[in-house]
Amino acid sequence: MDLKILEFLTVNDHYITVEANNNHLNDDAAKELAQLLLNNGGDISHLNVNQQIHYHRILQPLLEFVSCEGLQGMVKTYNGEIQSSCSTSSIIYNEDLLFNYHDDNLLCQICRYDSHKFSIA
Ligand SMILES: [Zn+2]
Repeated sequence: MDLKILEFLTVNDHYITVEANNNHLNDDAAKELAQLLLNNGGDISHLNVNQQIHYHRILQPLLEFVSCEGLQGMVKTYNGEIQSSCSTSSIIYNEDLLFNYHDDNLLCQICRYDSHKFSIA
């Protein structure tokens, strides 16, 4: 677990709120859990069942295998599903993740390259 990303998420906890709402789980419990994990160095071996659910469904998806949202962000498809506008449905590499969070733009390397290309043009 990348504690730097976890620390960012405890400070910028709207990411946790959104993820909790998407999963119909309690965001306060998830934020408390994030703080607990930050304090214990990311040790998930002693979580109770409820904490495990909050970890696996809310915190883990924010800490690893984060999907690129694409240059247009999340878009609605013709059948009403919310989908990433990323053309390659890529995952953001963990080493790039903190930068992406700071930038408030969750983009894979391909989309980030494209965004620079467009902003220069
Ligand atoms: Zn992308």
